[in-house]
Amino acid sequence: MFDALVVGAGPAGTMIAGALRDRGLSVQGLTAVPLRETWPNTYGIWRDELEALGLSDLLGHCWENAVSYFNGAEIDHHRAYGLLDKVKLQNYLLEKCQGLDWVQGKGVAIAHHADHSTVTTDQGETLQARIVVDASGHNPVFVERQIDQPVAYQAAYGIVGRFSKPPVEPEQFVLMDFRSEHLSAADKAEAGPTFLYAMDFGDGVFFVEETSLAEAPGMGFDILERRLIQRLRSRGIEVLEVHEVERCLFPMNLPMPSFEQSVVGFGGAASMVHPASGYSVGGQLRRAGDLAGAILRRCGLRGRGRDRSPWPGGMGYGRRIVCGSIICIGWGWRS
Ligand SMILES: Cc1cc2nc3c(=O)[nH]c(=O)nc-3n(C[C@H](O)[C@H](O)[C@H](O)COP(=O)(O)OP(=O)(O)OC[C@H]3O[C@@H](n4cnc5c(N)ncnc54)[C@H](O)[C@@H]3O)c2cc1C
Repeated sequence: MFDALVVGAGPAGTMIAGALRDRGLSVQGLTAVPLRETWPNTYGIWRDELEALGLSDLLGHCWENAVSYFNGAEIDHHRAYGLLDKVKLQNYLLEKCQGLDWVQGKGVAIAHHADHSTVTTDQGETLQARIVVDASGHNPVFVERQIDQPVAYQAAYGIVGRFSKPPVEPEQFVLMDFRSEHLSAADKAEAGPTFLYAMDFGDGVFFVEETSLAEAPGMGFDILERRLIQRLRSRGIEVLEVHEVERCLFPMNLPMPSFEQSVVGFGGAASMVHPASGYSVGGQLRRAGDLAGAILRRCGLRGRGRDRSPWPGGMGYGRRIVCGSIICIGWGWRS
């Protein structure tokens, strides 16, 4: 039996699996897709978040000139922003998981016993571990939470391409351009505020994305696409070439997982999304080590080469309490 089973091999799953392995625990991973399949999303992050972790070389692009527009005024963030090179990030995290046993399949059922849990996959395999970490994303397979308010989503429609005129200044990154003079009263009545998120990729290529920060239900991609084109046209800009389209939708206000369960969540599965920006990868990178440490301490697992003691409390209820306290200790919630 493994000490830990990590469900999901996205950013959160690979981070926590590597951090647990670093601490000497035996870890098994369960991945629904081939392990090296490139992750679908593009991840933005402030450069200083990576610098603090000594990981700046994972940046694929970086902009010193980062601005926003609020109430019509330009605000200089005085903070460099970057996009992670997601292939580098994935390779780096998988490197940290080297030697780890990854099973391909989807977790479909879980059963909890006094000192371990059993996960059944859609391939009919059963996997056993002392603790299960669910990192299966925003719609988690095992983490339970009580949802008693409408779920608000961040939604965005973006285009990477070439334009008749530069949509932002050369070498500029625009985090939030909330200017909305181009919208009519009817447009504004139709849907809530949206902003432009945009960047210069160089060589005449730009990314422009119309974004709704948090709406319940999530704003439709048709409205976002129309607003993006309206915004560009109001500045005399036409789209000449479309290289890639991004449609982004994820929940922003999911409550914390229930403390009384025998599964620990990490990443999107555990609602680890910054409530204002929707970012989560920086927070995951910072917290994977803390969570792994909390699991090590609270589960009485001592790491490689040492004795392994059973769960404090021994029975199922004891395990639930322990998972709840791991959630509190391991995350340092949402900063
Ligand atoms: C288009 C888009 C752009 C985004 N941009 C940013 C950004 O710039 N910065 C940022 O910080 N965040 C961004 N986000 C938020 C993003 O969702 C999270 O940052 C991040 O992907 C969450 O990581 P995760 O590992 O928790 O979940 P995911 O990335 O969703 O990974 C979960 C993994 O678990 C697997 N899985 C699911 N179910 C099972 C199962 N039953 N059994 C086994 N495996 C399973 C999935 O296949 C997947 O590989 C963006 C999201 C989207 C959609």
